Parts: sequence; C-alpha cells; structure tokens
Amino acid sequence: MTLTETAPTDVGRDFIRDIIQGDLEAGRVAGVVTRFPPEPNGYLHIGHAKAISLNFGVAEEYRGRCHLRFDDTNPTREEQEFIDAIKRDVHWLGFDWGENLYYASDYFEQLYEWAEHLIRAGKAYVDDTPPDRMRSQRGTLTEPGQNSPDRYRSIDENLDLFRRMRAGEFPNGARVLRAKIDMASPNMNLRDPVLYRILHAEHPRTGNAWCIYPTYDYAHGQSDAIEGVTHSLCTLEFEDHRPLYDWLIENLPVPAHPHQYEFARLNIAYTVMSKRILTRLVSEGHVSGWDDPRMPTLAGVRRRGIPAAALREFVRRGGITKANSVTEFAAFEYSVRELLNRTAPRRMAVLHPLKLVIENWPEGTTETLEAVNNPEDPAAGTRAITFGRELYVERDDFMENPPKKFFRLAPGREVRLRYGYFVTCRDVIRNAAGEVVELRCTYDPATRGGNSPPDGRKVQATLHWVAAADAVPAEVRLYSHLFARPDPGAGGDIMADLNPDSLEVLRGCLLEPSLAGAPIGEAVQFERLGYFCADPDSAPGRPVFNRTVGLRDTWAKVQGRGG
Ligand code: ATP
Ligand code: MG
Repeated sequence: MTLTETAPTDVGRDFIRDIIQGDLEAGRVAGVVTRFPPEPNGYLHIGHAKAISLNFGVAEEYRGRCHLRFDDTNPTREEQEFIDAIKRDVHWLGFDWGENLYYASDYFEQLYEWAEHLIRAGKAYVDDTPPDRMRSQRGTLTEPGQNSPDRYRSIDENLDLFRRMRAGEFPNGARVLRAKIDMASPNMNLRDPVLYRILHAEHPRTGNAWCIYPTYDYAHGQSDAIEGVTHSLCTLEFEDHRPLYDWLIENLPVPAHPHQYEFARLNIAYTVMSKRILTRLVSEGHVSGWDDPRMPTLAGVRRRGIPAAALREFVRRGGITKANSVTEFAAFEYSVRELLNRTAPRRMAVLHPLKLVIENWPEGTTETLEAVNNPEDPAAGTRAITFGRELYVERDDFMENPPKKFFRLAPGREVRLRYGYFVTCRDVIRNAAGEVVELRCTYDPATRGGNSPPDGRKVQATLHWVAAADAVPAEVRLYSHLFARPDPGAGGDIMADLNPDSLEVLRGCLLEPSLAGAPIGEAVQFERLGYFCADPDSAPGRPVFNRTVGLRDTWAKVQGRGG
C-alpha cells in the first residue's frame, strides 16, 4: 500500500490553550498547573507522547508547572518496572517534572478520610450486592437502574462496614463503597459509582498497608485538587466521567477546584495505542519485548532510532481537537524523515551484496577517497573511504536483461560509484546454479571522486557500494507495519491481524567501516536505502542495525534520477 505524505499543518493554538488563556485573563486561576497521570501498568506509547507534550507544553508556555503523577490505584497490574520505564521515557521525550513527582498512593489516607466524610454526609454507602447483580441493577442507556437494598443502610452501619473493609475482614469482591447519587441518571457514571473495592494485593509502594483501593474516578479528581492542578487534561473517553469528577469535588472538603477538559486521543493506522493490547503482544511473545522496534511504545520508537524531536514535532502537527480520528502512518514517517534528512550522517552500506571486481585496477592496492557526511549540513564535514579492486554493490542494482527504464548496472553499461569512479560492466561470473555471483568491470581513472570525465561523458545512475578491503559484516533488521490492516481488530480477533512479515532479518550485509562503532540508537542514512541505527543487540565487530524508516523516494524514482 502506498500512503501519500501528509502535508504538515501549522498549529499554534487550540481550544485547550484558549481556555487556559481565558482563565488567566479573567483571573479564574493564578497560574497553570497540569499533570500527566499514567497508570504504571505498561510502557508509554506514542499516544501518551501527545498527552505528555500537551500537559508539559502548556505548563511551559504559561510558566506554570506540570506534575508527573502515577495513578497507582490498581496494585494487581502495576509494577516498579513500569514506573521506572515511564520516568525514563518522559525524560527521553524531553520533559522534566522537576520536584513534582507524585503518586496517587501518597494520598490513600486522605482519600480514605474523604470517603468517610461522604458516608457521614449520607452520600456514600457500603454495598454487598454481588458484582453480576450490581451490573444488571445498573440499567442500560435507555432504562434507569435500580436502587440496591443496601442504599438505605444507616450512616453508622456504613461507617462500621467501611472500617472493617479497610481492616481486612472481608474477602476480595465481598463489598464495595459506592457514592449515593442517582440510579436513574441518564449518565451511567452517576448511577452510584463504585469508589472503593476490596483487593488483597501487595502494592508496589504501600506494600500491604491497604486492602481496599480507590477507583480511578474517585482518586483522580481528588489527587488533582490536593496538588492544586488547575486544568486536568484527559482524553475524550472521560467526557462522560466529568459530571462525576465535578460531583466529588463539590461534595468533598477539597483544597481546590480543578476542572477537567477532554481532547481526542491520538490513533495511528496499522498500530494500536491500547496498553491492554500492547501487554498481550509482549506477554504472548508476538514481539521481543516492550522495546521491540515495531512497538508503538516510546521505548520501541527510541530503539528504532526515531529522535524524540521528530516525535514531538509529529504530535505538535497533529494539533489538539475534540474530533476523534486516525492519523496515517505516513504522517509519522514524514516527521521522522524530515528531521533525519537534516541531521543524520550519510554512510554507505550494502544490504544484498554482489561482488564487483575492477579488472584494470592494480591488484593489492587501495585508494582513499573523500565522502560528504551530510549534503544538507556542510558543517558535518567529510570522511575518508576506501576504494579498491574488489567492491560490493547492491544485487538489485544489476540486471542482466534490463527493461527500458532500468539505468543501473547491466552488461556493457557504465555507472558512477558514488565518491569513487565510473565503472563499466564487462562480464559476469555465475555459480553452478547459473546465478550471477560476480561482476567483472573496468574503471576510468579520469573519473576520480565520481566526477565526470574530461570528455563530458554522462552516466544515468549513481550507485552506493562498499570496499571488500574494509567492509564490516552486519545484521540488518527491516521493519514494516506491526498489523496488516489499518484498523487492527476491526474484524474480530486482533492477533489475527498481526502482519506476519513485520520483521525481516538480513544477515551478511556489509557496512563501510565507520559504521562499526556507530552509537546505539542514533540514526544514520544508508545512502539510497533509508535511515538506520545500531541496535543494543550489537556486539563488538558484529553490529546489528535497525531500519528506522525508508527514504521518501521509491527505488523507481531513484534509479531514473541517477543519484
Ligand atoms: P489504556 O490503553 O488501557 O486505555 P491509557 O493509555 O489510557 O490506558 P493511562 O496511563 O491511563 O493509560 O494514560 C495516561 C494519560 O495519557 C491519560 O491522561 C490518557 O488520557 C492519556 N492518553 C492515553 N492514551 C492516549 C492517546 N492515544 N492519545 C492521547 N492521550 C492518551
Ligand atoms: Mg487510561
């Protein structure tokens, strides 16, 4: 499938920034405090990069502050590994919470006291209804729910039961604490939502101090209030939760009155932004881990060589709106290429080597030539490369019986070897199976540096190559979409939509020697092939490279242009 490049739209302002600006101008807030509130139950993904950039971005723009708050209210799914990874990834993306690192679990005691406050005010009750019955009593979008018999419990009984829940007297699921709001509300979230559930589970931070845990809805707004968050920014699926957010803030003696605003999630075609699905990809072994370069996680994107600045630019271009949409993968690649084209050093590497021997080159001698590091950036300078009698070129760059539009190597054809010389193919050598295994060529000494000869003779193709004398063997991993359809899961089982060809491993690739020590994760351009970076799996003398992204041009366009 060919995706068209999406032209960037410039987005400076959005409705969130308008709201903030208005609040500041009207004096409704003294300053801006936001937070990014991940649940530490998985690694961050590209969608989170949007929420991070928005929260930290507006705080920076309005000289406020942005908190990193772990929403660690469900100990059965949360782990220290995820806390550490989230911190690492936020820093990598280029944002810093400074002193403002918080955990919802820091507020467990306060949240508990406020729950007793609701009980004393007759606005919360302990419910013993079994979960499945509670679900059916909740009603539907068209029918009101039914009051639980426990709704009429006395305040004293509720207090006693809630304290015994905390003390660990009851097993998981035996009882919950619910807000007493309105079982007939058209908003399901106001039908006596659960505030606390019993979970006998060890928490990564509070250990075994608690066996009741607050729900997201109960913990979130109150945590915002405790921290003095002014604008609590979240994704659209929480829009229907806002009345509950406000109800709790209004009915509790909280120190501040934060407001929630919702924006559309970032979705990208051919991948998923759900931690539940990403967790399954890892635990079921469909990928090598959370940082597999095919994963849309920040750790995966980083390992793939995508610079944080490209990701920030991509989410900035997407803008902040209230309309859900799916972004084309090409728009992401556009931002990556655009940055790497400006910044990535150029190198030569051959992925499918075909030997090329220059018959009129003196045996046993090599020559040092100069190659430009980045034509987009003169300050990047040049480097020395070796030329010699035995070289390797890309197998695809030779055709024995070329069609009309093929301008690269063919019997009798002359081409330029970039930064090297013009060479002409004189003969081919085959193996027993009849496959071409070597090209016999001659070179023109008057074309040193790849320059046209005095007679003004032109060639129509410029090829990349490496010298047999010093090329370094490498493994190169090529990635394509993790899923085979743009809307994974839309047809049912999402795992059935995995792209079986998302990873292609090439062994026996050859690199120019300067690539042997390339820093892990820093993208370079392999000329004519794309952007690549060294993978942490590299060992001394055995580099492993990941393809970050292909070049904008297809092979067809490159060949016609002649380099
Ligand atoms: P799940 O994938 O299970 O829905 P989550 O991705 O929402 O989980 P959280 O840790 O709750 O995980 O997310 C932290 C914050 O990031 C929330 O404020 C959430 O709204 C925001 N966020 C999550 N996914 C996206 C997305 N695709 N685009 C923009 N923001 C997102
Ligand atoms: Mg969530």
